[in-house]
Amino acid sequence: MGSLPAPAWEHAVVTGGAGFVGSHLCSALLAAGTAVTCVDDFSTGLAGNVAELGDHPGFTLQEADVSQPFTVRRRPDLVLHLASPASPADYLRLPLHTLDAGSLGTRNALDLAHHSGARFLLASTSEVYGDPREHPQNERYWGHVNPVGPRSVYDEAKRFGEALTTAHGSTRGTDTCVVRLFNTYGPRMRGYDGRAVPTFIRQALAGEPLTVTGDGLQTRSLCYVDDTVAGILAAAAHGMSGPVNIGNPSELTMLDLARWIIELTGSASRIAFVERPTDDPALRCPDITLARDKLQWEPLVAAEEGLRRTIAWFRAHPDG
Ligand code: NAD
Repeated sequence: MGSLPAPAWEHAVVTGGAGFVGSHLCSALLAAGTAVTCVDDFSTGLAGNVAELGDHPGFTLQEADVSQPFTVRRRPDLVLHLASPASPADYLRLPLHTLDAGSLGTRNALDLAHHSGARFLLASTSEVYGDPREHPQNERYWGHVNPVGPRSVYDEAKRFGEALTTAHGSTRGTDTCVVRLFNTYGPRMRGYDGRAVPTFIRQALAGEPLTVTGDGLQTRSLCYVDDTVAGILAAAAHGMSGPVNIGNPSELTMLDLARWIIELTGSASRIAFVERPTDDPALRCPDITLARDKLQWEPLVAAEEGLRRTIAWFRAHPDG
């Protein structure tokens, strides 16, 4: 885990806290001395992700859909809004739920922060850049998104969430921040969530072909989850409103990623090329100059180390 800010908050609400990133965020906050209320509807998250936090006196798990108005028992001084399906397999299965979480859910979480006098942080995404025409992407780039394509339910929900967050800040004075997370990987990803790292690891460990889409030359920049969590907390601790990119600028092709995972798992799997999804971005790489300058944050976990830790977790959780 990278260096965390001092325990700046007494009580944080983490929406989507039972998900992949959210559960690591809950753990990091508790470790830093902040009480946490995790609000989750388990639409894509798992109770098992936060099971080990259940005995912590500072941890509360509240089952609720944030797209419906919700309250929490104790006033928070920080609201981290992560609740949203995030993997393409999930948001294509749950399109209206995804649009609701990005719109109504963001509005409800913003209202909670405003009425509590809490700082609010939206976990937005690099998907707001769509299939980018600028590379790498910095925060001044407006993006290239198909508003009616299959991915639009996620991309446009997040873009709307950013607009809502910005408007809440400017018209109501809510203390807001937008972070744009790039591809994050690590323990607790679901093997069937459709994202490249868990899919390839699951396939490699099962001795199945690794399904690389298209020619595999499309790139992604993979950030280990501990680094992403440290970036989110650094942005929350800083007074900035963002948007700020949080990601790892070291870029690799999906074909190289598949080959690497075969090597690290010692698998005999081969690579199988399959059809590339519609509107799948060709290039994705964050410019993190802003995060480096303002937050003194940058990723610390090298890809090989992060992949080794993730593979070890998948070996220990074959049903994961
Ligand atoms: P995830 O699916 O593992 O977690 C999302 C969590 O939100 C789940 O626990 C789910 O049950 C919960 N949720 C969904 N809709 C909800 C609702 N209406 N009410 C309450 N809870 C709800 O996904 P993740 O990868 O952990 O992503 C977390 C957040 O980070 C998302 O907002 C996502 O857009 C953002 N993000 C993630 C990545 C990444 O690479 N993981 C990249 C960019 C942005």
